[in-house]
Amino acid sequence: MFYFFKSKKQKTKQPFWEHKKLSQMTEQEWESLCDRCGKCCLIKIGVWRIRFTNIGCPLLNVKTGLCSSYSNRWNTVPECIKLTPKNLRKYAKYLPRTCAYLWILKKRRLPPWHYLVSGSRQSVHQMGISVKNRAEPFQQPVDLKEHVISWSDL
Ligand code: SF4
Ligand code: SF4
Repeated sequence: MFYFFKSKKQKTKQPFWEHKKLSQMTEQEWESLCDRCGKCCLIKIGVWRIRFTNIGCPLLNVKTGLCSSYSNRWNTVPECIKLTPKNLRKYAKYLPRTCAYLWILKKRRLPPWHYLVSGSRQSVHQMGISVKNRAEPFQQPVDLKEHVISWSDL
């Protein structure tokens, strides 16, 4: 029988998301975990059972998967929720299963297609699991029930 003891030195060689607790991450580290898939920016319906639609929030650029006004988003979309280490559990049910924050919450290693692992911001798009070229821009009027989706990566 033996113990595998990781020294502090070994720990610091690990990427921050593998050895830091959520509460220990800097704002920059926390933000960097987002792979920019854009799926949390799809409009959702339902109360008990959350269902995703393929319609993006008014600020979601469906061609890039990015928020078109991220730093000023609350001026246009006051209900946009800022995900933090403190509220992650509370809002986990609104996130797609591929969301990097859920992987970290479940203490899983980031997947190979995550840009912090692959080294490329394009990986998430190449895997076809972002909203890029799959979502529709916000439009009104719209019957959201007709736009409910069942993508396997949600
Ligand atoms: S679902 Fe998660 S990884 Fe994807 S854009 Fe939203 S916060 Fe980032
Ligand atoms: S305001 Fe921006 S970050 Fe918030 S849900 Fe809309 S597109 Fe996403």
